[in-house]
Amino acid sequence: MDLFEQLGAYDYGAVHVKRDKSTGLEAIIAIHDSRLGPALGGCRFLPYEKEEDAVIDALRLARGMTYKAALAGLAHGGGKSVIIRPPQHFDRVALFRAFGRFIDDLRGGYITAEDSGTGLEDMEVIRTVTRHVTGVDTSHGGSGDPSPFTALGVRRGIEACVQVKLGKQSLEGVHVAVQGVGHVGYHLCRELFAQGAKLSVADVDPLKAERAQREFGAKIISLAEIFGIPCDVLAPCALGSALNDQTIPQIQCTIVAGAANNQLAEPRHGDDLHARGILYAPDYAINAGGLINVAQEVVGYDAAAARAKTITIFDTIKDIAERSQKLGSPTYKIADIMVEEKLARL
Ligand code: NAD
Repeated sequence: MDLFEQLGAYDYGAVHVKRDKSTGLEAIIAIHDSRLGPALGGCRFLPYEKEEDAVIDALRLARGMTYKAALAGLAHGGGKSVIIRPPQHFDRVALFRAFGRFIDDLRGGYITAEDSGTGLEDMEVIRTVTRHVTGVDTSHGGSGDPSPFTALGVRRGIEACVQVKLGKQSLEGVHVAVQGVGHVGYHLCRELFAQGAKLSVADVDPLKAERAQREFGAKIISLAEIFGIPCDVLAPCALGSALNDQTIPQIQCTIVAGAANNQLAEPRHGDDLHARGILYAPDYAINAGGLINVAQEVVGYDAAAARAKTITIFDTIKDIAERSQKLGSPTYKIADIMVEEKLARL
């Protein structure tokens, strides 16, 4: 792999690599951009077939964090780390302690958090060797489960879309179809229900769909039908790449606004939605509530402050939607340009 070519392609930044012989740690910390502040982003702990895949994962994800933090108005740059999960037996505590020392070597240039394959217990281990960690236990100043904050931001983003696209000032009677009612999807249903929205839900786990039915009167829809049901808003809250060649032609509403990361299978799908007259709330703009909550931990956790900032996602999404209408350009491009202009001014 040509590392510098990759760094150029992702417009980097710095990449730090660490191998710790005694614990078997093999880790990468990618710092995409730190003009707005120290890089903040989660740590993945996954098996990778090739080292190259781990490096590219870190580069790609850290770049995404720069955009998410900048658009959310946070004083943070984008970073991400990857620990390659050892194929043989390993001591998890020793491994994460070694990783914590690696973070500490960067003297605050990178602040870590949970991501795929890591959890609260790992963050607690990291905390024993460095202070540059978030997502620790609430008894140690941690911010707790980010999902309710992510859901609050998504609800605010939906309100902005409904105002711009449908001319409605409230969600009363607005029909939202939610794909995936896990952590965020469940809290999103609670938020929407409280605002008087009508809900349809689909989940591979029937118990989760039934809970939304029981608690919020949601109608259960099959997995195959959720993209095509006539509604006002489609909210993808399950996996990435939900918006693709198969699903976009089925969509019967004019707003797509949900929590899932990387919703567009490819950027061109953002153009397809725009061409069909569908207002798409860019994923990293609408789902920033969890990151806002975690960023609050860095300066001393205050739930009310995190909530107040998360609520402003309404303004960000409204701004993107209005610029998109005015310029006739897809929302995903508008969001990227807003970030790039902001960074260029620094
Ligand atoms: P989760 O795993 O708790 O929930 C996902 C739900 O989707 C599960 O209930 C799962 O059964 C369901 N699901 C999976 N495949 C499905 C399918 N094909 N059709 C319908 N349902 C399906 O995850 P989460 O924490 O709620 O996150 C949801 C999405 O939001 C993810 O893309 C995540 O990256 C993104 N996100 C989450 C947060 C957060 O605060 N948790 C923050 C930002 C972005």
